[in-house]
Amino acid sequence: MAYVITDDCVACGTCIGECPVGAISEGDIYVIDPTACTSCGTCAEVCPSEAIHPE
Ligand code: SF4
Ligand code: SF4
Repeated sequence: MAYVITDDCVACGTCIGECPVGAISEGDIYVIDPTACTSCGTCAEVCPSEAIHPE
């Protein structure tokens, strides 16, 4: 299982520095690499748009 970023992402950049395994990439909306994500949930806690959810 991995976390996913939805279209609610506003590309604020808050989550990318919080991921302990570097699974998040920048873009028009940010993207989580499901093969790297350990489902720790940290990114979901810091996202101001509530755009990150467990898959
Ligand atoms: S759930 Fe944890 S490991 Fe997965 S992308 Fe978010 S911060 Fe990174
Ligand atoms: S913290 Fe949320 S809104 Fe900001 S870049 Fe990450 S997913 Fe997008």
